[in-house]
Amino acid sequence: MVRRLETRKTWFTEGARALRVYLRARNGEDRLPSDEGWYACPLCLTTVFRIEVLEEPDPMLTEEHVPPAWSGGTVLALTCKPCNSEGGRLFDGEAHKQHTLRKFMSGESSEPVRAAFTLDGVTTYGDWHMTGTTGMCMFGVPQANNPATADLMTEAMDRYVGPDAPDLRFTITPRMRINPDRARASWIRAAYVAAFAQFGWRYIAQPALDPMRRHFTDPTSVPLPVLSMTDPQGDTARREIWIIQEPAERRCVMIVLGQHRVLLPLPDDTRSLEDLSRAWVGDHDLTQRARFSASGILLPWPDKPLYSLDVLPTDNHR
Ligand SMILES: [Zn+2]
Repeated sequence: MVRRLETRKTWFTEGARALRVYLRARNGEDRLPSDEGWYACPLCLTTVFRIEVLEEPDPMLTEEHVPPAWSGGTVLALTCKPCNSEGGRLFDGEAHKQHTLRKFMSGESSEPVRAAFTLDGVTTYGDWHMTGTTGMCMFGVPQANNPATADLMTEAMDRYVGPDAPDLRFTITPRMRINPDRARASWIRAAYVAAFAQFGWRYIAQPALDPMRRHFTDPTSVPLPVLSMTDPQGDTARREIWIIQEPAERRCVMIVLGQHRVLLPLPDDTRSLEDLSRAWVGDHDLTQRARFSASGILLPWPDKPLYSLDVLPTDNHR
């Protein structure tokens, strides 16, 4: 705990210094209080904080995992508590459900999925477990089923027992409400924080990313175009930052988070997010696996915020 607080304090100090350097270079220093040591939440950029907010027991700046902790992410930045918890509630939970369902449908998951089981017009509800690729079993959930319906199901099942029984044909419908736009935004949000860790304040302050930040705060305020692609065969441990250079019309920053690839603007990009989405997605059928060829520069994955575009050599005297 102590070690992590020390780490957070170091991250805070470095982030505050980089923010000051960035604003000074743009003659925007008056946007911060005059004394040193102010850090902004990179996800909302609305509030600035002093280092005291890191103190336990209720720190206002918290550790942001990239990608989300459930998918094996590590801490990559400090974000404000409301952004961090809202991100989990609004976006990451949806991505997790989508992942669970995908794994379940492909028979790879040991996690159960709540499902409706329908046989001869009778439907009951329970938790489905896949065991290997061929086995499955269902545990009924008593409070989810009316006892009379459960009896009807038992009767229906009995018709399929015995040497002359007909083939059993039933339907399983997963009952999981998933918001795919929110799930996609979870990956976009994680990629945004990764890009912040790599490039810093100047990168995230570019106008093209304003709608993205507004979406993170309130997803109903502004829609986001399609900026993420999924490769179900991809290695879940992959973490990469690419500067895509070729083909020229697809130049962008691409963040690879396991099976997800997120398109972000280049530093000082003049295109809108819609332009960027169109360059990659166009008329592509998103239900099909994406096949693109592109090349560029692979950057090492950061293990802490680097602010590589903020701290210019001429600022070293500070
Ligand atoms: Zn925030």
